[in-house]
Amino acid sequence: MKISFLDEHLERIYAKVKQGSRLSKEDGICIYDTPDLLGLGHIASYVRRSLHGNKAFYVYNQHLNYTNICKNRCRFCAYARDNGEKDSYVWSMDEIEKRLMERIEEPVAELHIVGGLNEDLTFDYFIDLLKTVKRVRPKASIKAFTCVEIDYLSNLSGLSLEETVRQLKEAGLEMMPGGGAEVLNTRVHDALFPKKIGHARWLEIVRTVHTAGIKTNATLLYGHIETIEERVDHLIALRELQDETHGFSAFIPLAFHSLNTELSHIPSTTAMDDLKNVAAARLMLDNFAHIKAYWVMIGEPLAQVALSFGADDLDGTIIEERITHTAGATSAKGLTQDQMEAMIRSAGFDPVQRDSFYNPI
Ligand code: SF4
Repeated sequence: MKISFLDEHLERIYAKVKQGSRLSKEDGICIYDTPDLLGLGHIASYVRRSLHGNKAFYVYNQHLNYTNICKNRCRFCAYARDNGEKDSYVWSMDEIEKRLMERIEEPVAELHIVGGLNEDLTFDYFIDLLKTVKRVRPKASIKAFTCVEIDYLSNLSGLSLEETVRQLKEAGLEMMPGGGAEVLNTRVHDALFPKKIGHARWLEIVRTVHTAGIKTNATLLYGHIETIEERVDHLIALRELQDETHGFSAFIPLAFHSLNTELSHIPSTTAMDDLKNVAAARLMLDNFAHIKAYWVMIGEPLAQVALSFGADDLDGTIIEERITHTAGATSAKGLTQDQMEAMIRSAGFDPVQRDSFYNPI
């Protein structure tokens, strides 16, 4: 008698995964619906290990959030401020240089740069920003700007999308972090972030950026008002674009933190949901090389567990994370390299320090 440790839905999904068959929308919904978390983890881990063995990647990086002034004021965002609010800020080039110099002895391989849509800044500010970072940190890669910022910069400069991207690339932009889509769904967009670019424009910008030779990541902000079906549709939309451009590097499920937002009545995501999102991403996104467990949002202990649920990357050491912490994240604001490696080793994996493009350092 054949004894199966999986329920019939997961058994079917496991068989498809082992054959290398693409999972359907119905499979995606089953993944989120299953109560069998360990069975799901087993299947996701099978894929993760066949791609990356026992390796778990991380980057030594530094975040620079150049301004928190933003005209959009999305309902889920705790970070943005209006111009003139007492804790609003914008960094000058001197301030940016000072922050880079404070860490100049550290082996920072990547600068992660995002900020709000501040109407006082000109397009030249962004060109200067990239050039300043490149001058001070010539060996580090610049991963900067969401598609929301790229759209804003194209409007600000009066340049076409293609020309905007070309000029940013020439000034030093090498990669993009991929946020800003939140959930590729019109209902969620209109309810939570109506002033942000919509589904179609986000995909258009990513397509343009990939065509220009710039890799991006992709994210999903989950745990607010989105449905399971909307999550799965989002993953399938990303998978279809990846088939076309092959420009996505990693996918990062982002757990919503509601503190200090208009949605503060929404409770934190559960560990079950956090792990299911990692596993769903690993199984649905069969054409993405990497799935990240973003320890800032799910906490360091659960990020370790996520390495056995499909994640192969713990993002970075970060150094002073500001955005999720304004929304109540209780994780550290940064990790040392020793802490990061110890975290990976104690989860049973081999740490691999990487650059932005997954080359081992
Ligand atoms: S999520 Fe981004 S675009 Fe929306 S208010 Fe916050 S900083 Fe602005």
